Amino acid sequence: MSTNHKPLSKKQLEETLIQYRHHFHEYPELANREFKTTETIKAILTKWGIKLLPTNLKTGVFAEIGTNVGPTVALRADIDALPIQEESGVPFSSKVPGVMHACGHDTHIASLLGGAYLLKQLEASLPGKVRLLFQLSEEDKEGALQVINDGQLKGVNAIIGFHNTPHQPIGHVGLRSGITTGAIDKFKVTLTGVGTHASAPQNGEDPIAALGYEITELQSLISRELDPFKAAVLSITHLSAGNTWNVIPSIAFFEGTVRTADKNVRQEIKDRFFKIVNYTALAHNVKADINWYAGDPSVDNDPTLTKIVKDETAKFAPIYVQEQQLGSDDFSCYQDIIPGVYANIGNGGQVSLHNSHFTASDHLLIVGATFFEKNAVRLLKDLKTNHQRVNNNDSL
Ligand SMILES: [Zn+2]
Ligand SMILES: [Zn+2]
Repeated sequence: MSTNHKPLSKKQLEETLIQYRHHFHEYPELANREFKTTETIKAILTKWGIKLLPTNLKTGVFAEIGTNVGPTVALRADIDALPIQEESGVPFSSKVPGVMHACGHDTHIASLLGGAYLLKQLEASLPGKVRLLFQLSEEDKEGALQVINDGQLKGVNAIIGFHNTPHQPIGHVGLRSGITTGAIDKFKVTLTGVGTHASAPQNGEDPIAALGYEITELQSLISRELDPFKAAVLSITHLSAGNTWNVIPSIAFFEGTVRTADKNVRQEIKDRFFKIVNYTALAHNVKADINWYAGDPSVDNDPTLTKIVKDETAKFAPIYVQEQQLGSDDFSCYQDIIPGVYANIGNGGQVSLHNSHFTASDHLLIVGATFFEKNAVRLLKDLKTNHQRVNNNDSL
């Protein structure tokens, strides 16, 4: 920012962030197509004198604050919207038909901008550097990996971020050490038998009968094999086979998803899935082709960092213990490489994320901005004094 201007008061900053948030909400963009959003964020950061970092990605913005040698802490906000027609009725509703910030990522962008503004004021005294990651394509679950492959995590020692959350009072911060969200896996299975006349099943191998057994057997995996104190969900969500009443088809197909919290349970379920599907197919004389797609791991908050963030956050906001849930966030991809903390901040709304009636209060923005600012400073100080935690990851 220009030294000729007086810095914004907290109230003025809040008003500015609300304006920015309304703008992003009115002009939402889908994953990997966040072109205007990217330009707007760049323009704001440049206006404030914040240094942009080079990138090979077409969308997303990466920037850095800090001039002193020391550790680096990354702050992440996701920036993409969803293919949903907005029905919330707020005065700043989406002006783009069929696209809506129904996950509230507009509040994340504005909060990180606010954090950046506050940290820029402190730049000369920061005991290290703050990396800003305005991440593309969270909803497609591929943005974090693009950011990592683009080298934006190079030299970063720790990362923090947050998601706005309904059903919690505005500005209350949820934190939990360890696993907070689920890992995602997806499967597709094709069963191949031998088609025949419906009146003469003995002349073929019926994949539909086999499919019925597959569904039953797979449900017993969760109910009969999983430790009741461990969480997992296996949902079969799509079936297809045959196209008329008097022909046994040669092929049947099903697909679905597995959500798990624990890493070992995730592997165990995958192993057992393959065995059950293959042996059930064998028992029915059909062949099973399984395609397994491993998605993001669980969000897994570093216990030491979570303790520090909890202590710092309690100074400016009410905190609560975040509940575990089997949704997902690709923030977990960063935590696979460096320690991190992902919090929730209450948005005061009663409607779930990804719903066309979703709303989030403007009042969480200044809390989000403060969350980024205060915790970045605190973590830099802690990392600087505790050399053991400063592991140089320049190889990334
Ligand atoms: Zn979402
Ligand atoms: Zn989201």
